[in-house]
This record gives sequence, structure tokens and C-alpha cells, in this order.
Amino acid sequence: MVVGAHRRVIAIDGPAGAGKSTIAKALSARLQMKYLDTGAMYRAITFEAMLRDLDLNDQALITNLAQECDLHVGLDRVIINGHDATTAIRGPEVTGNVSKVAANSGVRTEMRIRQQEWASTYGGGVIEGRDIATVVFPDAVLKVFLTASPEVRAQRRVAQDGGDVAQIAAAIAERDMLDSTRADSPLASSSDSVVVDTSDRAIDDVVDEIERLFLERTT
Ligand code: C5P
Repeated sequence: MVVGAHRRVIAIDGPAGAGKSTIAKALSARLQMKYLDTGAMYRAITFEAMLRDLDLNDQALITNLAQECDLHVGLDRVIINGHDATTAIRGPEVTGNVSKVAANSGVRTEMRIRQQEWASTYGGGVIEGRDIATVVFPDAVLKVFLTASPEVRAQRRVAQDGGDVAQIAAAIAERDMLDSTRADSPLASSSDSVVVDTSDRAIDDVVDEIERLFLERTT
């Protein structure tokens, strides 16, 4: 890991539907920084395991898959072992199983290493996930924890992907519960994170605020 690279890491964490991807992508475009969606990494491992019909409860087997896989998470495409998983990783099957795979410590260790290597390669970036500020980049120059009310989060998902608000709200609550209660690097805000509630705010307004905080700390 390159010492000092984390001066250029913006860590964006938060629960499902808080606006992380939209805000992190907009921020990376504005600041001309690379963007990494770490949720897509856990989703891709889940996709590949399901494609191979592996037992997701077999920790050693899934860890081995994570360690061996050729994984590319780009702005537009997610490719694992030559399979284009871009669309499938957003589907209900992967979404329903990803928290189980993400609770596997062997998988987390491997993903953490890859995320740190990614930041070293690109000299930092805007990185979104659940444990970016707390565990992966504890020395990130800026840590943001995005939240929004459960109703707003469910409505955003329905506007994006369709479906029934009550059902989506229940699925989000279940995933957040699993992600926040797992033993290894649970979803949590770091004590030095800036907490931003996006419920009633325009995207540009939130991006402006984060950009300002970053520039204050780096210039
Ligand atoms: O952000 P997204 O909803 O795509 O993340 C999918 C899942 O990946 C989360 O529900 C969580 O289980 C897992 N995840 C994680 N740590 C991260 C990013 C995502 O455990 N840094």
C-alpha cells in the first residue's frame, strides 16, 4: 500500500438506498477522481457462486472463489471470470443473497486487499461501501456516512427498479439488519465521519457539500 495515498480517498458509506452510488459517481466526475463501487464486488462474488451453484454457507469454498476470481469493477461494467455480470448483480437473486456472502470473513479480507490495492494503483479515489471509513481506509482524508429515512430509501429504489414500496422497504430493512449485525466489519458510521441525511436534499446540493469538505482538507 502506498503511504499517503489515503489523503486522496473519499470514503462514502451508508445503508441501501441512501444515495451512495449517485452521489459518489457525481463527486468522482466533478473531482476527476476514480470511482469504486465495493458493493458491486460483493455482488459479483455472489453472482459467480450462484452461477456455479455453490453452497453460499460453505465459508472455505466461497473464500476460495473470492481469492481465485478475476474481477473487474469498472464504471460501466462488472466482469467476473470473463462473465459480464453488470445486469445480473442488480437482480433480486443476487440482492437477496449478497449479505450472506459479505458476512464471510475470508471474502472480506480478500476484497479489502483488492480495494486497498486499487487505491494504491490510482492514487486514491471515491470509494463507496459499508466499511470503507471504519476498516478499509481508516485514514481516508474525508469520511462521509450517508443516510435517508427508510421511506425515502424504499421509494428511491422503486423509482429506479420498480416494485412494491412495502416489499422493497422490508427487503432493505432485512439487508441493513444483516449488514449492521455481522461480526466482521459491520455497516456503521465512523466516529470521524460526517453524517449527511439525504432525505430532503437535492443530489447536487449534497455533492457540493462533500466537494467543499474535500477541498478544505486537501488544499
Ligand atoms: O452497495 P450495495 O447495496 O450494492 O452492496 C451490496 C451488499 O454488499 C451490501 O448489502 C453488503 O452486504 C455488501 N457490502 C459490504 N461491504 C461493502 C460494500 C457492500 O459488506 N463495503
